[in-house]
Amino acid sequence: MRIEDHPADRAERDWRPALLRGWTGRCPSCGARTLFTAWLKMAPACGDCRAGFEPYRADDAPAYFVIFIVGHIVVPLVLMVEKVWEPALWVHAALWMPLSIGLSLGLLPRVKGAVIGVLWALRVRTPQPVRAEKCPL
Ligand SMILES: [Zn+2]
Repeated sequence: MRIEDHPADRAERDWRPALLRGWTGRCPSCGARTLFTAWLKMAPACGDCRAGFEPYRADDAPAYFVIFIVGHIVVPLVLMVEKVWEPALWVHAALWMPLSIGLSLGLLPRVKGAVIGVLWALRVRTPQPVRAEKCPL
């Protein structure tokens, strides 16, 4: 069976479990741990249920969401620490750079999986490029 012919492709899809499954690196369709083959490398399809992941491209959305989330965590902490303790600048650098980098690296695959899950549930596919010989113009 081709990936595009999978029966789940026409079924009703709820975006909430798809988001949670994607967040944990699982297939948005069946929940098997098949969404990623490496840290951020998405599998072309689920090895269990054959749901195709290739048409669902997160592009830069996960990076934007991670910047938004990490900024909303780190900036208030920076301001609170500065207000309460007024540490030296090197203390700020020693605290916030590793925290920001760690949070970003930790959140990126989770947010990417969640974005892929929602794209899959809402059937938001990346348009395929039109080949020159098939273009009607
Ligand atoms: Zn699956």
